[in-house]
Amino acid sequence: MKGIFPTEGFQYIKTPFYYYDTQLLRHTLRELKQETQKHPNYIVHYAVKANANPKVLQIIREAGLGADCVSGGEIEAAINAGFPASGIVFAGVGKSDWEIELGLKKDIFCFNVESEAELDVINQLAARQGKIARIAFRINPDVGAHTHAGITTGLAENKFGIAMENMEHVLRKARALPNVACTGLHFHIGSQILDMGDFEALCNRINELQDKLVRLHIRIENINVGGGLGVDYQHPDRVPIPDFKNYFGTYTKYLKLLPGQKLHFELGRAVVAQCGSLITRVLYIKQGLAKQFAIVDAGMTDLIRPALYQACHKIENITSELPLETYDIVGPICESSDVFAKHTDLNKTQRGDLLAIRSAGAYGEIMASHYNCRELPKGYTTEELGSK
Ligand SMILES: *Cc1c(COP(=O)(O)O)cnc(C)c1O
Repeated sequence: MKGIFPTEGFQYIKTPFYYYDTQLLRHTLRELKQETQKHPNYIVHYAVKANANPKVLQIIREAGLGADCVSGGEIEAAINAGFPASGIVFAGVGKSDWEIELGLKKDIFCFNVESEAELDVINQLAARQGKIARIAFRINPDVGAHTHAGITTGLAENKFGIAMENMEHVLRKARALPNVACTGLHFHIGSQILDMGDFEALCNRINELQDKLVRLHIRIENINVGGGLGVDYQHPDRVPIPDFKNYFGTYTKYLKLLPGQKLHFELGRAVVAQCGSLITRVLYIKQGLAKQFAIVDAGMTDLIRPALYQACHKIENITSELPLETYDIVGPICESSDVFAKHTDLNKTQRGDLLAIRSAGAYGEIMASHYNCRELPKGYTTEELGSK
């Protein structure tokens, strides 16, 4: 077995499966902490939607991060993994009543409210429980991110958040409602962002909004800038850990926090992407007219990112040391989009070889489906399979 993968324990596990390099995950969390510790007012919530594998969640919880949830199920997953409710933020454009009730019952830190209609419902449901819900308004800052169109969220045309023009109105309205307390503003401009200029643009926009609030004598305790820091999908070994220093440094440099304000982050991909690989077995080599296909036993049901976002994952043959040849690597699902990579070099590949689809720790296992009546892939950690 080559590279980061354990030498024992891999051959006999049913494929496809996810492998989580927990040493790398812990290392990533240490580097993250090293940067945030410089700022006692910075608080990081892990975006559970990136990966909710209980073993992964537990390691992240042990590192002391809060949790960012987008459903009642995620709130339950976070609480089951031991995340304190006092560190849970709850976002989402369409929160159901039961999900809001669950958040209230558990006394989570904050609801990130995405519409005036939702504000009314939270106020009503909180009144019924005799509680005051802490809320933040998710403001759509109309800042474009240089990423795939399917994962920008901060443009006026996206479904997320409340338009800046309506900010003052909803803040005043929240003040008048007895069972909500507005404690913050929330933003999230997209995902897989590598250009720090995008975060700088968000900072500038928040500074403008804050100036306006100061003029209106509205005090806000918490600013939440969401997540979105990207990873290097091309070079998982050269850049296994994102540049947290540059990321947090951008906010430190450009965002003008007011005295006493706390700054919250919601990082998902940057924490977990590089520690995960999807391990799949080659079923057949098929000679096409102009190319050869490696047909593998993993499909878009196990990892949908290439089919959904045209995402590129580095793929390597971890069994073969033979000279390189070029392949299209495709899955068994009955959809033409079930392709992991086209025109990719692998060490000469044969039936039975294992391939590792790298950087699959985020939006991988969690997005798996039963389509074609397939079993969901399992996830294993270094502890379970033995280290290299
Ligand atoms: C998805 C999401 C995140 C995490 O995004 P990453 O790109 O994985 O860091 C954070 N906040 C909100 C509101 C989200 O929807």
